[in-house]
Amino acid sequence: MPEPIVPPIVASSTFRFRDNEEVLRAVRGEGHLYSRWDNPTVQAVEAELARLCGAERALCFGSGMAAISSALLTLLRDRPRLLCQEQVYGGTYELARDFLPRHGISTDFFSIDAWEEALEREVGQPGVVYVETPTNPALRLIDLRRLAAAVHERGALLVVDNTFATPALQRPLDLGADVELHSATKGLGGHHDLLAGVVCGRAETIQAIWQTRKLLGGVLDPFQAFLLHRGLKTLDLRLERQSATALELARFLAEQPEVSEVHYPGLESHPEHALAQRQMKAGGGMLACAIRGGEAAARAFSEALRVVTLAPSLGGTETLITLPSTTTHVNLSEEERAQSGLPPGLVRISVGLEPAEELRADFALGLAAARAAAPA
Ligand code: PLP
Repeated sequence: MPEPIVPPIVASSTFRFRDNEEVLRAVRGEGHLYSRWDNPTVQAVEAELARLCGAERALCFGSGMAAISSALLTLLRDRPRLLCQEQVYGGTYELARDFLPRHGISTDFFSIDAWEEALEREVGQPGVVYVETPTNPALRLIDLRRLAAAVHERGALLVVDNTFATPALQRPLDLGADVELHSATKGLGGHHDLLAGVVCGRAETIQAIWQTRKLLGGVLDPFQAFLLHRGLKTLDLRLERQSATALELARFLAEQPEVSEVHYPGLESHPEHALAQRQMKAGGGMLACAIRGGEAAARAFSEALRVVTLAPSLGGTETLITLPSTTTHVNLSEEERAQSGLPPGLVRISVGLEPAEELRADFALGLAAARAAAPA
């Protein structure tokens, strides 16, 4: 029979065998046994993800957090020391600050501006170093090639959450990272219609993480795997278009009197613009800007928009806006946010596929509302 060109959804949780010898062979890894272990639809998207990331093997999980927790619990088993960048996704931060220490893992945080000093203090304690670049929501960058070399000098492993850039724009494994992670809920899926996570790297490392996935059960289901696979087909096209629109919007916002600062790696004014040009193919679809007049003005800006949707998450076809002060950084005081480089009135924008002119016109509406709401 001719092969389908799209991998079918194999919704079966279990597989039929002719005899027990065949069962035993499947238990030893030859063939499918049970879908918590492996499933053909999930494996098809894993093969594509490994290719995109330049990895020997990739594994899919039911969410980004399932991927991150399973990877860290595996990698930290024999080296229970985690050095985590401060500017990471809130869920990852909580995992590192509260959950992992309860399981015998010592954790410390470092600022993106002080990673060299933080590594120097680690003499004699090889463990795992965990970063995100660009960061959420200020879009700061860390030099992955230099960081990987310094981490390996100390016998530690480097884990990179590449959710914001996606492998279409940045390939951490090529730059020396040991493990690359994703919330595939975001740019990889690309349509705001699924939850998934990915871990990829060397075959031996991924096999150990596969054992953890099998035990903790955080595997992706075949329907979501099918959607993820479909999303990946347009990854390059979406990121190219989103980067071009984001750059245009960043330039537009930077010229507006109601905007005090714009954070976008593709802008010449970005503190790591030169690094962005070396490390990323384009600036990506994420940008942030500070609206003059603080939180009241930022709220008015976000609520006046008609094309852009006020919603968390990122990386899909619709443009979304959030205020870190009401979402990711809600539990921080205004002073703590300022210390983390987040001015009052900051909004984060995930650029979708709408025409740039429509988005510019929508932002003009928002800016008028912000002007009216800003304290005199
Ligand atoms: N990593 C980053 C950078 C994220 O932004 C998120 C979620 O927003 C996650 C990980 C967690 O992913 P998920 O929500 O798919 O569990």
